[in-house]
Amino acid sequence: MDHSAPTSATLAIVGGGPAGLMAAEVARDAGIAVDLFDAKGSVGRKFLIAGKGGLNLTHSEAMPAFAARYRERATDVAAWLRDFDADALRAWARGLGVETFVGSSGRVFPSDLKAAPLLRGWVRRLRDRGVRFHVHHRWLGWDAAGALRFATADGERVVAAQATVLALGGGSWPELGSDGAWTGPLRARGVDVAPLRPANCGFDIGWSAHFAERHAGAPLKPVVAHWRDAAGAAHALQGECVVTATGVEGSLVYALSAELRDAIARDGAATLHLDLAPGRDEPRLRAALAAPRGKRSVGEHLRRQTGIDGVKAALLYETLPREAFADAARVAATIKRLPLRLRNARPIAEAISSAGGVRLEALHDNLMLRAAPGTFCAGEMLDWEAPTGGYLLAACFASGRRAGAGAVAWLRERTD
Ligand SMILES: Cc1cc2nc3c(=O)[nH]c(=O)nc-3n(C[C@H](O)[C@H](O)[C@H](O)COP(=O)(O)OP(=O)(O)OC[C@H]3O[C@@H](n4cnc5c(N)ncnc54)[C@H](O)[C@@H]3O)c2cc1C
Repeated sequence: MDHSAPTSATLAIVGGGPAGLMAAEVARDAGIAVDLFDAKGSVGRKFLIAGKGGLNLTHSEAMPAFAARYRERATDVAAWLRDFDADALRAWARGLGVETFVGSSGRVFPSDLKAAPLLRGWVRRLRDRGVRFHVHHRWLGWDAAGALRFATADGERVVAAQATVLALGGGSWPELGSDGAWTGPLRARGVDVAPLRPANCGFDIGWSAHFAERHAGAPLKPVVAHWRDAAGAAHALQGECVVTATGVEGSLVYALSAELRDAIARDGAATLHLDLAPGRDEPRLRAALAAPRGKRSVGEHLRRQTGIDGVKAALLYETLPREAFADAARVAATIKRLPLRLRNARPIAEAISSAGGVRLEALHDNLMLRAAPGTFCAGEMLDWEAPTGGYLLAACFASGRRAGAGAVAWLRERTD
């Protein structure tokens, strides 16, 4: 990759994640000269890490259920996805020689479950088509004349661009390049940026040292989570999560994390109730536990009568005082609704993704900043959030295309 920077560019794309690469592709295919800058020594690092988990590219779910995953931003994101939906994404991957399949959960994956071949082929194609890559270029903001300032190994460089797409990612896993430092220059430019917050994240509970030492890393499956939303409505979801040294994480927790995070911000803490025995009802458990224990230990009685052992039994010991185990009704009730008091979300650096970012009201429909004509934004740096399941990448790809197309139209208006 090219390590030297030009001093001017027709279209500068800053950030080489899925959103920036998509914007580059659209613009280059439209015949626009594209210079793409990234702070790191290579592009797509988070995309590669996403591949370690199987690379969930998008979801096969139909609209409007798909769009509803983006919560309060459903209408905006649906508009981006109309131009580049799951079928279009799958066809695009096929164009790079990567077939995809729909998993049993409806999630869409590349058939080899890897990100590297897709990314490698994509970057090669972009380069062959003339996109110029400039790595080790960390964007610092704008100079007084509105040119882009970059920190490089050779000192600061300035690039005057006719149009710019910023695709700088969110604030999670900052070691992969997206550290949210862009919020400073954008705010200084008058752009309304919602604070970055962890999304698809774990939570702290504060286990006893004994419990944490013995059970950190233990999966809890299957369990049903019960919680109440902001309006007080009850919800339940079955899934799996993992005990950590400080609390819980994993797919079930991630799915609820936006509501739990907001509840903690609102109320100081959030309580999640776990059903540790989804297949058994409470009266049956109560009757089983009320059977004479004889000489059996409490743990052995619990295991034989209810099937609860290991980390699930340890959670009961963590929750109930010792004398409560003589009370079959109380133990049965706790098995069905074990309270987990979540004190705080884990830091954004550990989260799968981030919420917050450039508010969509600060952008035109073509994703151009109202406060900075000619500058477009795309990807996770925009203020939307979604659960895991392919929804994150789907919105990054689609918004990258929209921003790229917006930049092309904007440049053409100026040259025609
Ligand atoms: C462990 C993990 C697993 C994931 N798995 C999935 C999954 O299976 N499915 C899914 O849909 N999503 C998944 N995601 C989320 C998904 O990877 C991100 O939402 C997506 O990569 C965001 O794309 P983006 O282009 O907006 O930003 P990023 O991919 O973060 O790219 C932003 C780029 O901008 C560069 N940059 C940042 N700041 C600067 C600067 N100041 N100057 C220059 N360059 C800068 C960065 O170096 C980076 O290359 C996962 C995330 C993680 C952490």
